[in-house]
Amino acid sequence: MIKVYYCFPGGKHKALTLSYDDGKLQDRRLSDLFNRYGLRATFNLNSGLWDADEKRIKPEEFRTLYAGHEIACHTVTHPTIERCPLPNVAQEILEDRVALEKWTGYPVRGLAYPNGSLSRDIVAMLPALGIRYARVVGSSDSFGAPEDPYRWQATCHHNHRLLENADAFTALFKKQYLYLMYVWGHSYEFDDRNNWDLMEEFCKRVGGREDTWYCTNIAYWDAMDDLKRLRFAADNSFVFNPNAADCFIRVNDSEEAVCVPGGETVRLD
Ligand SMILES: [Zn+2]
Repeated sequence: MIKVYYCFPGGKHKALTLSYDDGKLQDRRLSDLFNRYGLRATFNLNSGLWDADEKRIKPEEFRTLYAGHEIACHTVTHPTIERCPLPNVAQEILEDRVALEKWTGYPVRGLAYPNGSLSRDIVAMLPALGIRYARVVGSSDSFGAPEDPYRWQATCHHNHRLLENADAFTALFKKQYLYLMYVWGHSYEFDDRNNWDLMEEFCKRVGGREDTWYCTNIAYWDAMDDLKRLRFAADNSFVFNPNAADCFIRVNDSEEAVCVPGGETVRLD
């Protein structure tokens, strides 16, 4: 039997992503930092709050400010949604999507739970609202693949063992595993704590690494979904990729990953 391992895009076995909430003005400095070090992030925005709040980024700025990053939902008005009637929660999410999509030009399919608030009923509703993943709060201190996309917990908040986790992540080398590091927070917290240098040091340590794929939150799920759609022959002697994007796999522990171009069949024997 031919042994096949899934890889991240580019054949990499590590991925790094970030998630920042509320769309405050400090996102400018943060996205600039990410851009300088080649990191990709997801910014979770409330479409009902940017008009009245001087401290929030205006939508006219979205396309340039968040270019290369993902814009995702954070509900229209940031309520603690487990205390709200379910139809209102559906509205808070769908209307946020509609408002954000006027500015993004792509379908908005991610969510960060406002105030970290969720319930089993809300989780059950999300796929029908076009949401592919949803981020909770807290820190897992782990680099494993998330088991439940709708209870996706980050490796750490940036004020929780960030550099320790970064060093542990960059030291990982075993190619038989896929590793994911995921950092979350709010950009205004760097002003509050006066610790922008912490994030700059983090970017320095994790950026520009050959073994790491730098991705937004939705890019992670899209890549995993693409991999699962690959159609392998029963004995793995060939594989068809029905996706638009190329997929990468390791075959029989090969050093180099094999690229399976979108729409093509590749022999693996
Ligand atoms: Zn928030």
